Amino acid sequence: MSLEKNKSFLSPLERIEGPLLEERGVKLWMKRDDLLSEDNHHAFCGNKWRKLKYNLIRAKSEAHDTLLTFGGAYSNHIAAVASAGQVRGFHTIGIIRGERMTPLNPTLQFAEACGMQLHFVSRSAYRNRHTNSFLSELSHQFGDFFPIPEGGTNQLALKGAAELGEEINQQLAGGPPDYVGVCCGTGGTLAGLITGSDPQTSLLGFSVLKGDFLTKEVQQLLNESSYTGQHSWHIHTQYHFGGYAKFDQRLIDFINWFGEKKGILLDPIYTGKMMFGIWDLIEKGHFPKGSRIVAVHTGGLQGIEGFNERFGELIKK
Ligand SMILES: *Cc1c(COP(=O)(O)O)cnc(C)c1O
Repeated sequence: MSLEKNKSFLSPLERIEGPLLEERGVKLWMKRDDLLSEDNHHAFCGNKWRKLKYNLIRAKSEAHDTLLTFGGAYSNHIAAVASAGQVRGFHTIGIIRGERMTPLNPTLQFAEACGMQLHFVSRSAYRNRHTNSFLSELSHQFGDFFPIPEGGTNQLALKGAAELGEEINQQLAGGPPDYVGVCCGTGGTLAGLITGSDPQTSLLGFSVLKGDFLTKEVQQLLNESSYTGQHSWHIHTQYHFGGYAKFDQRLIDFINWFGEKKGILLDPIYTGKMMFGIWDLIEKGHFPKGSRIVAVHTGGLQGIEGFNERFGELIKK
């Protein structure tokens, strides 16, 4: 399959309507990158598809036949790389933090079913994943591979995510949006989106992690890129619900309400927190009347099965 820009991979931009939006005088769209899938598994899709795009092109052009990457046991990135390997014909190795559990959770079952070789390492060993000695140990063990960092964030990922910004500008009638919102784990998607957006658009990140270290990391990613723009961007840090994969009933109720009323399924780790945040900001009158806002659905729906298995069928599919 051609890796080049392909019309059939243009994800829809859908208008979202409702009384609150009318009252506040704002217009909202969702960029449905969750529908950007080559395999119908809801894994090689969303921002992971964007971030892997140029990494896969590079791996192929350098004649690697194996991808090696890192992640936690429920990682969307692990599922995406496993699926990408199957679809694009790469052998894949996943270095997984923690011990192997039997049976495997749905994410790792899926990864293994895609042909990914799972290699479990202790949390302390995993912490050393960036060191040269760990990487050389891995090449000793697995031979040649193309390494992709945890979460898939590198400069090639920014290049893929930049296309998300360009696409939104092409698809939205009446000119570029005033705001684009996206959730942040490593901040790679936000950084790429900034580089690909119109200078008039303000970018809003929603951190799914506790703390405010992401602003610095996104700035660092921008500094390492060829970006010289002056976009206004800001990361909201009050919508993490206690930290990564933490949640409360309000979040669950919002996700189920949104799914029922708007017909769009959100995940509890990433997109649910972003949409909750955007909805809250709209309610609080944060956006001036007449604002045109695009929320990016970065995918992540593969994680719902594992989440429901762990916490008890909270998210209605
Ligand atoms: C991985 C992931 C993110 C985080 O993306 P970053 O580029 O690491 O900030 C956001 N949303 C979903 C659905 C993800 O799977």
